[in-house]
Amino acid sequence: MLLPQEIIRKKRDGGALSDDEIGFIVRGIVDGSVAKAQIGAFAMAAFFRGLSMAERVALTMAMARSGRVLDWKRQKLPGPILDKHSSGGVGDKVSLILAPIVAACGGYVPMISGRGLGHTGGTLDKLDSIPGYTSRPDIALLQRAVRAAGCAIVGQTDDLAPADRKLYAIRDVTATVESIPLITASILAKKIAAGLDGLVMDVKFGSGAFMQQFEAAEALAQSIVAVARQAGLPANALMTDMNQVLGRTAGHTLEVAESIEILRSGKGEERLMTVTRRLAAEMLVLGRLAKDLGAAKAMVKKVLKSGAAAERFQKMVAALGGPKDIVENCGKHLAKAKIARAVPPAAPGFVEAIDARAVGLVVLSLGGGRRRADDHIDHAVGLSDVAGIGERVGKDRPLAVVHARNEHDARMAVADLQTAIRVGEDPPPPSPVVRARISG
Ligand code: URA
Repeated sequence: MLLPQEIIRKKRDGGALSDDEIGFIVRGIVDGSVAKAQIGAFAMAAFFRGLSMAERVALTMAMARSGRVLDWKRQKLPGPILDKHSSGGVGDKVSLILAPIVAACGGYVPMISGRGLGHTGGTLDKLDSIPGYTSRPDIALLQRAVRAAGCAIVGQTDDLAPADRKLYAIRDVTATVESIPLITASILAKKIAAGLDGLVMDVKFGSGAFMQQFEAAEALAQSIVAVARQAGLPANALMTDMNQVLGRTAGHTLEVAESIEILRSGKGEERLMTVTRRLAAEMLVLGRLAKDLGAAKAMVKKVLKSGAAAERFQKMVAALGGPKDIVENCGKHLAKAKIARAVPPAAPGFVEAIDARAVGLVVLSLGGGRRRADDHIDHAVGLSDVAGIGERVGKDRPLAVVHARNEHDARMAVADLQTAIRVGEDPPPPSPVVRARISG
């Protein structure tokens, strides 16, 4: 007979759990037969003792199957089901641009995204800044939107991987989030439940990343790619630099507007464009829509230039209940903050370094982020025109523009940004935004 306390004891003492033992714990998490204290103890034992590759695969699969698994075959879509997942960053708006690009190239992207917590912004919050947008559709609406637009960026529904939702809520309050095996299983369970044919991970490192050290982020990327592949999900990862804001904006409506402008014009801040193009190309190759990365990049360029990707974004927003003219008239639909204030550097020079986490916290303190999961957020506040590392700043090029709801917030944000963005006399050597590629 299996007993939760015996399974916890075995892991606590460094033993290897069988598929049955892991399946028993996961079933117990969902049906309540494993107590919350036992779930916390299981997470802590896994945190300290780690999980082998076989245990990670077993946990992933058990959590993926703990609820509904989407079956796209019955939809008879004429293309592969693909997704990208990012480990989160500051100004990371890649999903908003990439999902419509991949859709315009023939892929289908049911992108299950998260809300922001702490210094990182959540894709879902960005989309919630579009009036009428249904970010938590039921599965029938999600499938209709994917069929109509080729992509739908939405939140996790209650019936996808419920074991992960319950386990994560307990990890969050038991200091067991930062575990590579548990993060791997948590991310992949949701992706496998979404019924994907291919997944590309954007694993970030640097001052604004969830895992700041390159080596730790790389270990996470390797774990996710290896477990995904063993679980039957083709996956690759790119390791991307999060030592500065990605793109020019951080904050919800500001990021939506920047993304729409990129989709309309095909042009944008170079680091953001590089990350987006590279991830999109990886997805197209994984989904066999392109024969190699070179051909895939040419497809990406074409759908940006022709406006086909912008059209997919428009269709996605309309299919999920938002305005039918968001691409043409985004200024009409997106809220604006009362105050826009340029942030001058203390002295002219070149941006030497950015504490991207501190920049994310500025957005949070303007009201654009959450301290607690149930906090209300202001979609209109944030930063635009954020200078990048190596850029010349001075009288006519501020460090950024602050968008605030009142004078007090604006003043605080200006001072905090002047500390977070370091200016020196010489530009530092350039560093690539994509540092490594991890494939199975
Ligand atoms: N994101 C997830 O979905 N799960 C984790 O465990 C950590 C980050």
